[in-house]
Amino acid sequence: SNLDTWKQVDQYFIDQLIPADPVMENVLKANEEAELPSIDVSATQGKMLQLFVKMKAAKNVLEIGTLGGYSTIWMAKALPENGHVTTLEFNPKHAEVATRNMEMTGVRDKVEVIVGPALDTLPTLEGREPFDFIFIDADKNNNPHYIKEVLKLSKHGTTILVDNVVRDGRLLDSESKDKSIMGIREMFDLLNNHPQLDSTAFQTVGSKGYDGFVLAVVT
Ligand code: SAM
Repeated sequence: SNLDTWKQVDQYFIDQLIPADPVMENVLKANEEAELPSIDVSATQGKMLQLFVKMKAAKNVLEIGTLGGYSTIWMAKALPENGHVTTLEFNPKHAEVATRNMEMTGVRDKVEVIVGPALDTLPTLEGREPFDFIFIDADKNNNPHYIKEVLKLSKHGTTILVDNVVRDGRLLDSESKDKSIMGIREMFDLLNNHPQLDSTAFQTVGSKGYDGFVLAVVT
C-alpha cells in the first residue's frame, strides 16, 4: 500500500463518516487563496479532534499552531455554549486568515487567537482556568518546551495531543541534525517515565502521508 491507497481510504472514511460540509471546504479554499501552506490536519483528523473534545466534554481547549484555523474550527464546533478555544499563532497573516475563517464559520465568539511566539504567550495564560484538552501542532523543535509549559496550564485528566511525531519514520534517526526531529526525540525523552504524564503514541497514514500523534493524560 502507498500514498495513493491511503488517500483513497481516507476518502472512503470521509464519504462514510463525515457529512459533506461546504463551510469546512470553504475554510480550506480561503487558506489556499491566502497562500497558506496546506499543512492543516486532514478531515478525518479534524473529526478526530472534534471527537476528543466531545469525549472530554471539554470546555477549555488550547491549541498551539493555528494556521488558518481549520483544526481550531473542528474543535470549536464541538464545544458547549460556554466553551472556548484559545489558539496560539506566531504568524500575524495566518492569525488574520484564521480569524476571518472563524467569522465565516460562526465560531468567532468561541475562539481567542493570540498572536506571538507560543513560548512567550503560553506564560500569559497562567492563572486562567486549566485547559481540558490541548492540541500541540506548531514548530516541532519546541515540543519539549511546549509540554513543560502546558503542564502549568493543566489539571488532573487534561488530555494532550501532539501532531507530526513520526515524520515518515525520520523520528528514528538519533543522529538527525533536523531541529524538528531533535525536538520530537527530546519530547519523547521527556515523556519517558514522566511523573505527571501517562502517554502513548500512534502512527497514522492517510491523505497527508505517514506520520503520527502522541497522546498524553495528566495524572
Ligand atoms: N493546527 C493547524 C491545522 O491543523 O489547521 C495547522 C498548524 S501548522 C502545522 C503550524 C502553525 O504553527 C503555523 O501556522 C506556524 O506559523 C505556527 N507556528 C510556528 N512556530 C510557532 C511559534 N513559535 N509559536 C506559535 N505558532 C507557531
